[in-house]
Amino acid sequence: MGGRAISDRSETESRKLLGRLRDALARDEAGQERLNGITRLIAESMGTEVCSIYLFRDEDTLELCATQGLNPDAVHQTRMKLGEGLVGRVARKGKVINTPDAPNARGFRYMPETGEEHFSSFLGVPVQRLGEMLGVLVVQSKDSRDYSADEIYALEVVAMVVAEMTELGAFVGEGAALKARHQQAVMFKGTAAQEGAAEGRVWLHEPRVVVSNPIADDPARELERLTTAVEELRVGVDKMLDMNQSADKEQLQVLEAYRMFANSKGWMRRMEDDIASGLSAEAAVEKEQSQARTRMGQVTDSYLRERLADLDDLSNRLLRILTGQGRQTGAEMPDDPILIARNIGPGELLEYGRKLRAIVLEEGSVGSHAAIVARALAIPLVVHAQRLTTEALNGDHVLVDGERGVVHLRPDDSITASFRDKMAMQAQAQQRYNSIRHKPAVTQDGARVSLSMNAGLMADLPSLDSSGAEGVGLFRTELQFLIRNQMPKRTELVAIYQRVMDAAGGKTVVFRTLDIGSDKVLPYMKPNDEPNPALGWRAIRVGLDRPGVLRMQLQALLRAANGRPLSVMFPFVAQFEEYRSARAEIDKAIARETRLGHAIPESLKIGAMLETPSLAFAPQKFFDEVDFISIGGNDLKQFFFAADRENERVRRRYDTLNVSFLSLIERIVERCAISDTTLSFCGEDAGRPIEALCLAAIGIRNLSMRPASIGPVKSLLLRSNLTDLRKIIADARHRGEQSVRPAVMEYLRQGG
Ligand code: PEP
Ligand code: MG
Repeated sequence: MGGRAISDRSETESRKLLGRLRDALARDEAGQERLNGITRLIAESMGTEVCSIYLFRDEDTLELCATQGLNPDAVHQTRMKLGEGLVGRVARKGKVINTPDAPNARGFRYMPETGEEHFSSFLGVPVQRLGEMLGVLVVQSKDSRDYSADEIYALEVVAMVVAEMTELGAFVGEGAALKARHQQAVMFKGTAAQEGAAEGRVWLHEPRVVVSNPIADDPARELERLTTAVEELRVGVDKMLDMNQSADKEQLQVLEAYRMFANSKGWMRRMEDDIASGLSAEAAVEKEQSQARTRMGQVTDSYLRERLADLDDLSNRLLRILTGQGRQTGAEMPDDPILIARNIGPGELLEYGRKLRAIVLEEGSVGSHAAIVARALAIPLVVHAQRLTTEALNGDHVLVDGERGVVHLRPDDSITASFRDKMAMQAQAQQRYNSIRHKPAVTQDGARVSLSMNAGLMADLPSLDSSGAEGVGLFRTELQFLIRNQMPKRTELVAIYQRVMDAAGGKTVVFRTLDIGSDKVLPYMKPNDEPNPALGWRAIRVGLDRPGVLRMQLQALLRAANGRPLSVMFPFVAQFEEYRSARAEIDKAIARETRLGHAIPESLKIGAMLETPSLAFAPQKFFDEVDFISIGGNDLKQFFFAADRENERVRRRYDTLNVSFLSLIERIVERCAISDTTLSFCGEDAGRPIEALCLAAIGIRNLSMRPASIGPVKSLLLRSNLTDLRKIIADARHRGEQSVRPAVMEYLRQGG
């Protein structure tokens, strides 16, 4: 599109055509008549025998919806698959096809019902809006000729208007066999990131900007609007740059790219051409944005893709300035909102808080900060639901199945009914769990298992009571660091830890010191370019090498405890010496607090997380010295099987109930028993009922899990007999089975 030079005559022609189009669209007509009118006007104005509009009937079928020049009986009869014939190819590639000899062009498909064999030349342009392909606009002529750059451009401008009108539902009506876009039922398959089922109404984090006036009469005025808006945009970008001078290199690079685009002459000139051809300022911005999005879908180079994404963001800003449509201005949030976004930061998510019924993201990841927050709030979350933000409209009915990662947008009645049945069953189960909330978890053969919850945010605290947790077995302190844009101050930390201890009201809270590195990168700390971050400089390794933050944190914990009992544990301890050094930091902090005359905890327990197999084989003296050990099963399992917990391809490959892994855990249980050291397990597996049961059977008496898992785990423990289970596990091992799961499942089935 770069060096296109549009002649003045062509601009005038194009403006005339758009003017007539606007008049035609303003008439009170049914959708089909409007479409017919448009094809007639275009054919006349461009001097071609044929003009046809093909629109998508469903995701991959195009349908001839109106034509001037082809056999009228073919309308709504002729269909082609995406990629099929020249029309299908235009739609698949999102690119113009211009050929003087269509019947001999690559991909041509003969459709006898249309009578198109008489037409030699073919020009097809995509009808698209913001990267979403809506259809194809075609002109054909009998004489064999290449259409000129002016003609292609004129047709593209018209296609832009057709796209806007399609979006606004202008072609839906009695006469049209088309169902309006954004009215069909669509199912999306994403990735489950937090379980739970929810029904509600769509609430778009960033609503679609609606352009209701794609055509304008007064180019001078539109140009002025565009220039003013771009100026405002430039000033805004410069301001952002000034304010973020201390940001990291990557952020600065993005802002510099913004500035470059905002000042790009090419971008500006293309939009000016669009306006001169009769488009309004916002339609011009959208036209260029649409084309950039199509390119984004085609380029594989990640740098280029990022830059195109920057341009996309910038275009959105510009559209907001031009239309005055800010984030959700005017719209009212429904009382059962399901948040839909391309992506969202943890801070923004916390602002919405518990009022959301579910969250669905087009991007995001299971381990992202937003996912952490969603989990803390116990809100069902689905990530990687591609194209959802282009399909969903504010207020649409939507069902979210957080277990299977499925989203039903505008579902039909039968889907809704079966979904509601499922939700009712879950609600019943929840009632059952509530009824045993205050019961201790004692198995049929009398073993008492303590069930605590994992936490990290203030949003978690209400769960202490509602879940029946006996305490907080793992408080991930890094979450407070991750959701901020800057390092929290010590006084802030003191206030947070104090609130946590107050909320626990005497129940134990085990604070884990900062566990950063690997997948947890603080936005305000320079990222380390490490070849393998999971095996890199993380957790206690950072804490010992750069002890500033660890010291501040320990001091904050001591101050918050203010004489109350305190439990602290260190993450990712791989050898005895690391535990000793970390413990020495606490001793120093206590000495300092004592000197300053502050109260010190009446009892202090200092533990280590066992997350690397090496620590299971540490000298027995380590087990003697440490006050308690908590198995971080997520990390321990990934290192035991050498299978990345973040990698979808391998993370579920090995079973936690694999006999080798259970043997490792048994070994840890034995070693703790020798030293009479308290042992707990706080990885995700603690919250999976079957896994929790087996962990209890092999001797783990403290499990810490997500609050929502306490009910299901307790319910199973209450009904089980650990002595029987131990025998089942021993037998399966004896038979040489890889995992004890099948045997355990069979036993549970028999017991009903
Ligand atoms: C673990 O590794 O099991 C654990 C509890 O810590 P995190 O998931 O925070 O790494
Ligand atoms: Mg861990």
